[in-house]
Amino acid sequence: MILFDFGYERAATAEEAVARLARLGDDARLLAGGTDLLPNMRAELAMPATLVSLEGIACEPPRALADGSIRIDALTRLADLERAPLIAERLPMLAAAARAVGSHQIREMGTIGGNLCQETRCLYLNQRHDYQFAPPCFKRGGECCYPFPRNKSDVCWSVHMSDVAPALIALDASLEILGAGGTRRAGIEDLFSGSGLRPLTLGPAELLRSVTVAPRPARWGWGFHKSTVRGGLEYGMSVCAVALRLEPDGRTCAEARIALGAVRERPLRSPKAESLLAGSVLDPARLTQAATAGAAEANPLPHHGFTKRHLSDNLKIYLRRTLEQALSRAREEEGAC
Ligand SMILES: Cc1cc2nc3c(=O)[nH]c(=O)nc-3n(C[C@H](O)[C@H](O)[C@H](O)COP(=O)(O)OP(=O)(O)OC[C@H]3O[C@@H](n4cnc5c(N)ncnc54)[C@H](O)[C@@H]3O)c2cc1C
Ligand code: SF4
Repeated sequence: MILFDFGYERAATAEEAVARLARLGDDARLLAGGTDLLPNMRAELAMPATLVSLEGIACEPPRALADGSIRIDALTRLADLERAPLIAERLPMLAAAARAVGSHQIREMGTIGGNLCQETRCLYLNQRHDYQFAPPCFKRGGECCYPFPRNKSDVCWSVHMSDVAPALIALDASLEILGAGGTRRAGIEDLFSGSGLRPLTLGPAELLRSVTVAPRPARWGWGFHKSTVRGGLEYGMSVCAVALRLEPDGRTCAEARIALGAVRERPLRSPKAESLLAGSVLDPARLTQAATAGAAEANPLPHHGFTKRHLSDNLKIYLRRTLEQALSRAREEEGAC
């Protein structure tokens, strides 16, 4: 597939990138690693008039802040996250999530910012229509929705497939967002709109600058699982990320955060499952009950050929196992995250 003509500008600083976006308006897009945007441009799902490349902007390596938080530049390549000793030691769940993405080649190019800001996916969206079928769907500005014909024009059930987002949500990360008016901070969950048509809440001239994760408390553990058919170079069938903290008795859950990916138009929290865990003794029956509740409240959208029933069963099984992982880590590795 041959790419259409477009303009290309290269920013030397994040501020310059934002100024260029503000000047160029809605027809411009940021280009980080390009591993999501360029295939979407080839499929003519995105047709920006100009790309503002972030390649010339210096990327700071991940570093610990004075309060023990870890700051990660949004331009950090996923492969560098996997390799960074600070991430391996302090945020191993994030290293595991980065390692789960695509392939070596994708991770060497793809950035953490681009991963969070990636487009949602749908079998009917990620195809070029001139060799599949002619009329575009709602998300491409057309008048139908192929997998869900009863959808109204303001509803699109494409799925957010980021592997990294669920891990960062379980870690309760915060974001630094740079816009024409300066910097603002937001919780990571606020980045996602929940609409398949326009999945992010970023303003037209805003850029994700960094991700920060606060230090983990004691008696804390994590679990992460991405289900796939092949085990590599593949978007997730489902992604489960769990963080939980135990009371000093080592049996009762003080706090739990569960995030699921590849389930809906945005990565999801599981509030019912979390509330079944918090304050309870984490015996096998409680873990099963929480996993069952988490799968039910996720109400996954069928995607990439997987049925809702299959995805619900998958979530029930793997959320249960991910909870077990987190529990055993919380017991064994005081303060691990
Ligand atoms: C074959 C293949 C397999 C893949 N497998 C996976 C997978 O298993 N899991 C997964 O999560 N992803 C997967 N991806 C998607 C993608 O490669 C990754 O998510 C990658 O991390 C995207 O990062 P990027 O820097 O290349 O983003 P880009 O393609 O450069 O950008 C993606 C989007 O984010 C915007 N953007 C980029 N940086 C910023 C920023 N700092 N601030 C605001 N907006 C920004 C861009 O404008 C664009 O809209 C796959 C892609 C391919 C082609
Ligand atoms: S779910 Fe969204 S992307 Fe998929 S066909 Fe319907 S409108 Fe298009």
